[in-house]
Amino acid sequence: MNKDIILLRLGELTLKGRNRHRFETQVQQQLKRVLQPFPSVTIRHEYGRVYLDLGGSEYAAVARQLDKVFGLHSYSPAIRCGLRLEEIQTSVREAFAEIQVKPRTFKISARRVNKKFPYDTYELNRLLGGTLLEQHEDLQVDVHNPELDIRVEIREQEALVFSEVVPGPGGFPLGSNGKAMLMLSGGIDSPVAGWLAMRKGLRVQAVHFHSFPYTSERAKLKVIDLTRTLAGYAGKITLHMVPFTDIQTRLKQECRDNLLITMMRRAMFRITEQLAARQEALAIVTGESLGQVASQTLPSMHVIGAAATLPLIRPLITLDKAEITAMAERIGTYPISILPYEDCCTLFVPKSPSTNPNIHAVERQERYMEEWLPEAIRTAVEQTETMYIVPEQPEKEDSLF
Ligand code: ATP
Ligand code: MG
Repeated sequence: MNKDIILLRLGELTLKGRNRHRFETQVQQQLKRVLQPFPSVTIRHEYGRVYLDLGGSEYAAVARQLDKVFGLHSYSPAIRCGLRLEEIQTSVREAFAEIQVKPRTFKISARRVNKKFPYDTYELNRLLGGTLLEQHEDLQVDVHNPELDIRVEIREQEALVFSEVVPGPGGFPLGSNGKAMLMLSGGIDSPVAGWLAMRKGLRVQAVHFHSFPYTSERAKLKVIDLTRTLAGYAGKITLHMVPFTDIQTRLKQECRDNLLITMMRRAMFRITEQLAARQEALAIVTGESLGQVASQTLPSMHVIGAAATLPLIRPLITLDKAEITAMAERIGTYPISILPYEDCCTLFVPKSPSTNPNIHAVERQERYMEEWLPEAIRTAVEQTETMYIVPEQPEKEDSLF
């Protein structure tokens, strides 16, 4: 079938209220970005809808790019044809021929934007439906609950015929809900948390704590690669690399072994919060999932989270590991996450980390460290290395030939 045009539907919320225009503009910006490798594609905005005119580009390649546009609810590939009835009938037959599993019932839903078109929608539905009924004896019309709905849009210059509705990533346009810091380890979870936060309209900046030389240069590269994959959904992502070795080694010497992770995590939150203030970010996103490890029991999360004042967003909190892993595979971070390089904490894991830390005990220990810890936190913030990570672009279509 000639898939000439893709019809895009933005999320339901984008269609309401004052935000509509802003959301549409933000989605269009993202579309322009992901469609850069396809110079022949044009974006058109008409009758409250967005259309991509493929201009000869391959449908499947363009559709893959659409999975990176948050706020896109669904899309449909459409056949374009002229406005003569016979042409539209041919396109309807073509669209039907494309359907893999043939339905028993169908309906035609015509929509007429062009008021000069000689048939009204009732007549059109009948005439176009008739052309299928003639050819397929077992097929029946069911206007209430059809297995297949073939939609026909009559526009000023042309008609569009489509039936397939492909789900997009959904959510809100990137950045439409503000900015947040993503605590990004090298693991499976935090990249997924970052993706979910971005899908909800947050622009994220990644923060990674490394303990060089206990953690290798390759562990850093892994985090850069993860950020690059996430940047495929955002255009570019700022990554802050925080030197954490001094704080970590000193905490290991000075605090009770079973509270080490708790204390380390609190320091991480404090550093992230200071970075957030500089970047005017208003939330911290983590990959925590309830009960997954000792530091993610409810009492642990309470004591760790108490070190932060910004809202903590934990998109994975109620998900199972299998669900998180499936998402990581879908968004493309999984193969990078499972590379073996240590992230900083695994090297400092105590024998029996507390699953039920006492907030008073933790605060008492921190008071003993008042001489050096706040200063060490400030130093870590000062010495943070900031980089800007851009996605790997798919090759320009022209260069494939
Ligand atoms: P992940 O798969 O994201 O590493 P995890 O299940 O290993 O998560 P933890 O190691 O307990 O869980 O970490 C919980 C969260 O703390 C992570 O999801 C991440 O948001 C943050 N975090 C942990 N280590 C680091 C790090 N080195 N740099 C930045 N953030 C980190
Ligand atoms: Mg981890």
